[in-house]
Amino acid sequence: MIKRLLIANRGEIAVRIIRSCREMGIETVAVYSTADRDSLHVRLADRAVCIGPAAAAKSYLVRENLIMAALHTGCEALHPGVGFLSENAAFARLVRDKGLLFIGPDPDLIELLGDKVRARAAAEKYGLPVTPGTGALGAGNDREAEEAAEKLGFPVIIKAAAGGGGRGMRIVRKASELKENIALAAGEAEANFADPAVFIEKYLENPRHVELQIIADGAGNAAVLGERDCTVQKNHQKLIEESPSPALDPRMRLSMTEGAVPLFRELKYRGAGTVEFLVEGRSFYFMEVNARIQVEHPVSELVSGTDIIRQQILSCTEGRMEIDPDAVELRGWALECRINALSPGTVTRLEVPGGPGVRFDSFLYAGCTVPPHYDSMAAKLIVHGRDRDHAIKRMDRALGELIVEGIKTNKDCQRRIINHPLFRSGNFGTSCYEEIEKEAENGF
Ligand code: ADP
Repeated sequence: MIKRLLIANRGEIAVRIIRSCREMGIETVAVYSTADRDSLHVRLADRAVCIGPAAAAKSYLVRENLIMAALHTGCEALHPGVGFLSENAAFARLVRDKGLLFIGPDPDLIELLGDKVRARAAAEKYGLPVTPGTGALGAGNDREAEEAAEKLGFPVIIKAAAGGGGRGMRIVRKASELKENIALAAGEAEANFADPAVFIEKYLENPRHVELQIIADGAGNAAVLGERDCTVQKNHQKLIEESPSPALDPRMRLSMTEGAVPLFRELKYRGAGTVEFLVEGRSFYFMEVNARIQVEHPVSELVSGTDIIRQQILSCTEGRMEIDPDAVELRGWALECRINALSPGTVTRLEVPGGPGVRFDSFLYAGCTVPPHYDSMAAKLIVHGRDRDHAIKRMDRALGELIVEGIKTNKDCQRRIINHPLFRSGNFGTSCYEEIEKEAENGF
């Protein structure tokens, strides 16, 4: 077992990683920007190293500083968390070249899977259905793009090959608007991801987003810890996640799982990963792989009784996992609400929900500061119940207990959604959030 690990991240995910490490007997080294000096991850880690000023570009994204911090404190491994450099193949390579273990798959796989066009081709090769679409569009070849879009049928969606976080996507409903939007999308892709490559997919109206949680040991063993349904989204960003998905029946679940496992086995994937699908009726389409731990992993932890971060660290440092892929048992229903800070500031009061089946993962404490420089997610409230109805009632009770003062959060909005008949019916698509909020605005 490794002795010491550096966490190249902040906030809730850094706290989450520290918790697993402490139980495994692994010492943790936190890094922080000057804006995070008093942040909870700094307080909880065994050691902490300041890596720069508030702006992420000058701290959490400075590769050399992160690696220096790891080497100077005698770390053997580096956990990238989510966001920041977690899916950056060049960073993973640098970490490895400096003699550190990277908690993630091989850099070549990060590169392959991080390119949505190449990942789609890989998925197809292993027999997974992909959303109908094109390969990377040749620069300036508008005719080719127009023909492809006409063939797919409008509406279509233009996506950045290197995209992530819901950025760089443009929906096009008419042929006359295609050329202009491709140019805009390529510009956005270049600005956000330093790569102008874009491609076109058929745009599905109001589909569901369903993903599989994979954990694999790098030696060809891959386990699926069930699926997560992340259909409740605002601007393509997930808001509520649940496991299992109300949209899958056992046959769909089986064919999705049997379709995805060979990809991870053949690639000799290591660590935690997610395969994302769009679901329309009884059809599902591969969308992408996220080659890292994901924010919503706790719902899978609750239904599978697994510490996914622990398994991720074991597989990436020792090439083993404590899961038998053929003996995964899933129990009950888990639901997660992301609690986002709608404004930065100091938390003046915090009352955390508790009781049976309730988990609160967060970096908040009374008196802490939520800085304006980073992701707005401040906490995740996760519940586990017997079935969907029980989990929803439990979430409603837990949201009612949660008190955060000093900063504005989306807590009331989350409560409105989980109590809305549309959400409760289990039968909705990605426009669910907009539909519910429009009603609230109109005073219904
Ligand atoms: P990112 O990598 O930026 O998060 P994804 O490719 O994972 O982007 O897509 C994010 C969300 O965008 C999906 O969950 C879905 O709501 C929407 N989306 C993506 N592709 C399509 C599509 N072809 N049709 C309809 N919605 C889509």
